Amino acid sequence: MLHEKLSSIYDNVLRRNPGEIEFHQAVREVLESIGPVLGKHPEYAESKIIERICEPERQIIFRVPWLDDRGEVQINRGFRVEFNSALGPYKGGLRFHPSVYLGIVKFLGFEQIFKNGLTGLPIGGGKGGSDFDPKGRSDREVMRFCQSFMTELYRHIGEYTDVPAGDIGVGGREVGYLFGQYKRITNRYESGVITGKGLAYGGAQVRKEATGYGCAFFVEEMLKARGTSFDGRRVVVSGSGNVAVYSIEKVTQLGGLVVACSDSSGYILDEKGIDLELLKQIKEVERARLDVYAARRGEGATFVPDRNVWDVPCEVAMPSATQNEITGKDAATLVAGGLVAVGEGANMPTTPEGIKVFLDAGVAFGPGKAANAGGVATSALEMQQNASRDSWTFEFSEHRLQEIMSDIHDRCLQTADEYGMPGNYVAGANIDGFRRVADAMLALGLI
Ligand code: GLU
Repeated sequence: MLHEKLSSIYDNVLRRNPGEIEFHQAVREVLESIGPVLGKHPEYAESKIIERICEPERQIIFRVPWLDDRGEVQINRGFRVEFNSALGPYKGGLRFHPSVYLGIVKFLGFEQIFKNGLTGLPIGGGKGGSDFDPKGRSDREVMRFCQSFMTELYRHIGEYTDVPAGDIGVGGREVGYLFGQYKRITNRYESGVITGKGLAYGGAQVRKEATGYGCAFFVEEMLKARGTSFDGRRVVVSGSGNVAVYSIEKVTQLGGLVVACSDSSGYILDEKGIDLELLKQIKEVERARLDVYAARRGEGATFVPDRNVWDVPCEVAMPSATQNEITGKDAATLVAGGLVAVGEGANMPTTPEGIKVFLDAGVAFGPGKAANAGGVATSALEMQQNASRDSWTFEFSEHRLQEIMSDIHDRCLQTADEYGMPGNYVAGANIDGFRRVADAMLALGLI
C-alpha cells in the first residue's frame, strides 16, 4: 500500500510515462519503501524531491545505422537516459538486447540512482543501450554496430559527464570497440569515459568479476548475520553470462555447491557442481549454448531444454539472468524446497509477488540494488585508477570490493532497523539510497 502523497506521485508517473511497465514497477518498489521517511523528513515532500527524482534529467534517443556482412543496411535505436547527477557523473551500463526500449532503459537508470547512492561512491545514475541483438552476429558486425552507436553517443559522454559501461550484451569486446571509436572521434585518450575496459588499455583488475563476486560476498554477509555460511549449501544461479559465471566462481571458493545455471534455451543440472573452466570455455570463448556443456561434461550432467531453472530445489538462489525471472509461483516453489537466501545478481529479477513471498517466508532477500552493486562500485574504482593513472593489484581490488559489499550490507540492516523493519534489506537499500540522493539534491538548490 502506498502512502497517500506517494500514491498521487505514482499516478502521475503512470500518466506521464505510458506503457513503460518496467519503469512503473521500479518506481513503485521504491515508493513503497520510502513512506516512513517522509514522516521523519517533511523537507523531502515540501521540495518535491521524489517528483524530481522520477523525472530523468535528460533522455537521448538516436538512430544507429550500420552495414551487416551481406552489405545490407540495418537500423537500430540507441538510448542514453541521464537520470540523476546529484552525487556524481551519470554512471551505468549499456544493454544490447532486442527487448530494449525506453521503459527498460528508464527502469534500469532509475534503479541505478539508488544503487550507486548506496555504494557511498561519487557516482550519479544513468543507463543506455539499444535494441540491437548481438546473438548470431559476427565479430565484424558487432564492431560496425558499436562504432556507429558511439558516433552519436560520444557527444553526450565524458569522464565528468556520463560514464557508460557494460550490461547484458555488452562485455569486454563491445567496450573495446566503443572506447576505440570514442578515442578516434575525440582524439582524446580519456580512459575514464567508459568502464569495464580490458586490462590491456586502462581496465581495472576485478571489474570483470565484480558483479558476481560482489553478489556472493553480499549473500555471505546475509548468511553470517543469521549465524550461518555458504559451507556445503546447495546453490542455483540463473543465467550463464558475466554475472552468473563469476557468482559461481566465488560461491564455489566460499564453500557452496552450485548445481545449476541456465540460458534462454534451458538449464544444466550438474549435481557434482558446475565445472567452471568448461562453462567459461563454452560461454566466454565459444559463445555457444548450454547443451554443449552437458554433451562435453558427460556423466552426471544433464541439459534440460525449455524448462525453468527455478524448479531445481536449493538453499541459496542467485537470479543473474534478467528482470522478472522469478514469479510469485517460482518463489513459492523455492521456499517449499528449503530456500534460505536470495542474492539478486540481475536487476529486478524478482517480481513484486515473488518478493512478497520471500519476505513473508523470512528468507534473507538481498535486492539487486544492494546485492549487485559490486559491479558499478568497481567501475567507480576503475574511474579512480584512471584519474590517478594508477593500477591496483587483484588482491587489493578484491579486498576493496569485499569491504564495500560488507559496508552496503551493514547499512541496509541498520537502516531497516532504524525504520522498524528488522532484516528487510529491500526497505534498507531503498531508504538509504534514497536519502543519500535526496540530501545531495536539497543541498544543490532547485535542480
Ligand atoms: N550494468 C551494471 C549494473 O547494472 C554495471 C554498471 C557500471 O559498471 O557502470 O550496475
